[in-house]
Amino acid sequence: MIKLEGVGKSYRAGEAEVRALHGIELTVDEGDFVAIMGPSGSGKSTMMNILGCLDVPTEGRYLLDGIDVSGMSDDELAAIRNRKIGLVFQSYNLLPRTTALDNVELPLVYGNHRARRSRALRALEEVGLADRATHLPNQLSGGQQQRVAIARALVTRPTMLLADEPTGNLDTGASHEIAEMLGRLSDAGRTVVLITHEEEIAAYARRVVRLRDGRIVSDDRTDFADVSRDVTREIPAFEEPA
Ligand code: ATP
Ligand code: MG
Repeated sequence: MIKLEGVGKSYRAGEAEVRALHGIELTVDEGDFVAIMGPSGSGKSTMMNILGCLDVPTEGRYLLDGIDVSGMSDDELAAIRNRKIGLVFQSYNLLPRTTALDNVELPLVYGNHRARRSRALRALEEVGLADRATHLPNQLSGGQQQRVAIARALVTRPTMLLADEPTGNLDTGASHEIAEMLGRLSDAGRTVVLITHEEEIAAYARRVVRLRDGRIVSDDRTDFADVSRDVTREIPAFEEPA
């Protein structure tokens, strides 16, 4: 479970100080699928970097599965990241002269070669690309390259998948495929946090959090809205006394 308590983040850039996040309170339950939206510069990537243990807050606490990671050293953060977090970005960051399968295998450091290979192949199967294992990145479409990047993020079996504008370089069809895939991964029990500025991509999530100027301005459960509509229908109509 993710818990941000009064999280703030300031950056120093020369003489200037930029307050990128203020007083963020956010809890995300295991297996949830949350979209983070907001205009450019509203703090989305800053929040993602904190959630992904790539950076620490300058104020407040970040509890990840009950562990306070806010004061951790870079090495401690890296260890948590390797154990718990899969990261996906707008650019796929695949090694160009390396096959899809080898790209996926890269994060695996433990186990013998055969065990690592079969795990990498299973991750490729999970994103529907087992038949592209020997392809090089430039022999794959953009959507397929992003799926390889997702397989690489999944291969260490993280509990949480964080994706910062994963559909930013993709056309509409491929974008919807990626969003649908993230939905399936969350159905399988992983926590998924997706940053996007496209409403129709955010619509795949079960919850939409909106940022503006470093603050949360709305937080809506899209699935809960459906449930409450159903519940309302169950309530018998009020009868006027005769
Ligand atoms: P976009 O949609 O353009 O990706 P964003 O919502 O991801 O925007 P952030 O990248 O989180 O926004 O930036 C939030 C604010 O923090 C911006 O004002 C930005 O200029 C500032 N900022 C981000 N990173 C740094 C940094 N390393 N040093 C100084 N300021 C930074
Ligand atoms: Mg960003």
